[in-house]
Amino acid sequence: MKITGARVIVTSPGRNYVTLKIETDEGIYGIGDGTLNGRELAVASYLQDHLCPMLIGRDARDIEDTWQLFYRGAYWRRGPVTMAAIAAVDVALWDIKGKALDTPVWNLLGGRSRDGIMCYAHASSRSLEDVIEQVQRYTAEGYKAVRVQCLVPGLEEMYGIPRAGAGRTGIGLPYVEQGWSTEKYLRFAPKMFDRVRAAVGFDVALLHDAHHRLTPSQAGWLGKRLEDHQLLWLEDTVPAELQASYRVIRQHTTTPLAVGEVFNTLFDCEQLIREQLIDYIRASIVHAGGISHLRKIAAFAEPYGVRTGCHGAADLSPVTMGAAVHFGVATYNAAVQEYNVHPEEASDVFDWDWGLKDGFLVPGDRPGIGVDIDEKAAARFEYERAYLPISRREDGSVGNY
Ligand SMILES: [Mg+2]
Repeated sequence: MKITGARVIVTSPGRNYVTLKIETDEGIYGIGDGTLNGRELAVASYLQDHLCPMLIGRDARDIEDTWQLFYRGAYWRRGPVTMAAIAAVDVALWDIKGKALDTPVWNLLGGRSRDGIMCYAHASSRSLEDVIEQVQRYTAEGYKAVRVQCLVPGLEEMYGIPRAGAGRTGIGLPYVEQGWSTEKYLRFAPKMFDRVRAAVGFDVALLHDAHHRLTPSQAGWLGKRLEDHQLLWLEDTVPAELQASYRVIRQHTTTPLAVGEVFNTLFDCEQLIREQLIDYIRASIVHAGGISHLRKIAAFAEPYGVRTGCHGAADLSPVTMGAAVHFGVATYNAAVQEYNVHPEEASDVFDWDWGLKDGFLVPGDRPGIGVDIDEKAAARFEYERAYLPISRREDGSVGNY
C-alpha cells in the first residue's frame, strides 16, 4: 500500500489546529494531529517542507520503520516541533492501518484493557464558590475526577482561569502578560482544598496543577499540606528539565505527583519513572511522537507502577483525543485522560465517534481512530496567530508559564 499524497491542513475553528492527511494508492487515507500550541506553523512547515516529500512512495503499512526513519534519520532528534510532526505521521498511519484491516486502533494495540478511559474535567473560576458549584455539577453529570483551579486572591489573571475581560496585552505586545506570586499562591492553595473538600466530600477524585511555578521545597511543603485531601495528583509542581528535583519533593510528601505534558520522548522522564519519583506521566500522543512512542513510554513505566494521565487541553485536536481514547482503553497502565470540550466550531471541521459516558471516554466502532476532517469546512477558518500568556513575578522577572 503506497503513500501517494501527504498534505497539511491548518485551520482555526475556535483555535488553531494542524492536521496531516496521508493518502494511499488503495484509496484509504488517514489523519494525524501535529498541533503545537502557539508554535503551530513551525510544525506545519516541518511536515510540509521536510517529512511529506519523504512519505511519497513509502509503504503505509510500515509504521515503525517510518517512525525510526524520521526520528533517527533527521540527525536532530527530539524537541516539540520534530516530535509533534512525527506524531502526526504516526497517528495517520495507525488510522490507515485500522481502516485497511477494518478494525478500530485499540484492537491493533492488543485489544481492550477496559471499555473506557476515566477522564477528568476542569473546575476553574475566579471565585471559590463557583469552583465548588462546578465540581458539584460535574459530579452530577457523572464525572469521577475534576481538576480544581481558582484565581489566587491578590492576582488579576492566572493560568487555567477564565480571563476577566478581553485580556491585558502590554503596549505593542501581541501576547498577554500575567503577574504571579508564589507566596500568595501557597497561602491560598491549601485553604482552597479545605473549602472544596468540606463542600464536596471524598467521593470525587480531585486534581490540581501548579504549572511549574514552585521550587522543590515549596512543592514538598504543598504536597505535605494537601495529604489529608487525598488528591488523585498534584501536577507540574516544578519544571522537570532537572528530573532529580523530584527526589526532593518525593522525600517530603506522599501526595501523588504528575508531570510531563511538555515532554517529547522517554528520555525526558526516564529517571522520573525508573526512580519512581512520580505516579503519573502526562506525556501526550501529539507531543511525544505519536501512538508508537507513547506506547513505549507506557511500557517502560508499567513495571515501575507509574501510570499514564495524558494531557488533554483543548489545543489537542479531536484527532489526538480520538487516538488517546484508543490508547487509553488498550494500555494496561493508562489511568486517566484529561478532557476539555473543544470549541463549538471544531465540530464543523472534525467529525468524531468517540464520546463521553458516565465520566469515561469511550471509543466508537469506526475502523481506524474514528475521526475525520472536512477540508472545505477547514478552509473557512483561517489560521490566527496566538500566544500562550507570559508570567511575570512580582519583582518583574519572567516566571515559568
Ligand atoms: Mg499541567
